[in-house]
Amino acid sequence: MKVIEHYDKATEPLISFEIIPPKRGGAVHNVFESLDRVVEEVKPPFIDVTYHAAESYVEEQEDGTLKRIVRRKRPGTIGLCAAILHRYGIDPVPHLICEGFTKEESEDALIELNYLGIHNVLAIRGDNTGSQTSLNMNGTANKYAVDLVEQICNMNRGDYLEDIVNAEPTDFCVGVAGYPEKHFEAPNLDWDIKKLKEKVEAGAEYIVTQMFFDNSAYFRFVEKCRNHGIDVPIVPGLKILTTGNHLRSLPKYFHLNIPDDLSAEVEASPDKAKEIGVEWSQNQCQELLDYGVPGIHFYIMGNPQPALDVIKGIKGR
Ligand code: FAD
Repeated sequence: MKVIEHYDKATEPLISFEIIPPKRGGAVHNVFESLDRVVEEVKPPFIDVTYHAAESYVEEQEDGTLKRIVRRKRPGTIGLCAAILHRYGIDPVPHLICEGFTKEESEDALIELNYLGIHNVLAIRGDNTGSQTSLNMNGTANKYAVDLVEQICNMNRGDYLEDIVNAEPTDFCVGVAGYPEKHFEAPNLDWDIKKLKEKVEAGAEYIVTQMFFDNSAYFRFVEKCRNHGIDVPIVPGLKILTTGNHLRSLPKYFHLNIPDDLSAEVEASPDKAKEIGVEWSQNQCQELLDYGVPGIHFYIMGNPQPALDVIKGIKGR
């Protein structure tokens, strides 16, 4: 089923999860061990799997020369999605990114997904890892997520990159990312929301937000989106703070604000960071559910336990 159909048919807010593929050479059974617990305890309607661009770095060789290496650290998104579909019968949502892909490669990936019976995609730009500039320069890559949304929706109309007579239309439901505290490159929130609206106008059917720890940022974001005429579901994405290091790493990598009360509590008792983070998230979830969110999307990466602890503590679950 498509993600938007899950939301349309839901009689209560949906709980979904996002995982990352193992590092190159890592064992997929570790992912299944985590997912077995998630599926047994929550049975989510869909599971997102992130995509990771190739990163380029320079490595010194034995003879002292330098070699530029381009390597994808976490390959396997499409394979993992197929495995989720077949092992659990749960709809996988692969993330597709612009970064590091030509439009032809994106089209090929979408054809693979279509043949596998995977009809959901989260269309994302990705962050600059050093491999995109040359692709963008000769116009063979999608620059922004909106360009990828357009490409997917064109394929849904049977419009592939080259003219193909009687091309079979695909049937993808497309989601996109939104930023309650604005995307770090955007000059202001309203500007960012106008760009978000372009993704919806291009065919995106729902929005998943970047993680946030202060619900008022989400409430303000939703209100502004509605005022701008964005009427698709806006699903809050949550991560649970579990270590003192998160006070610095989460703002650094995700450009978000950690509220004073939370940072002060964790700083005072760093050894209790996980309990504090779980309780904070439970309160966040309860308030979001009372507000009437369509669902909650947990970023669990490789460890589902904090999210499962949060879910157990939510009233009525
Ligand atoms: P876009 O929507 O393209 O926006 C990027 C910036 O460009 C914004 O500042 C926007 O305002 C601006 N912009 C948009 N359109 C235009 C335009 N036409 N002209 C000028 N400016 C414009 N990263 C990964 O590598 N893999 C993943 O799997 C992944 N999954 C994610 C899932 C979610 C829910 C979220 C919130 C983020 C995810 N990311 C992932 C991170 C994401 O790649 C970064 O946040 C990235 O910097 C922006 O991606 P986007 O799709 O929001 O970009």
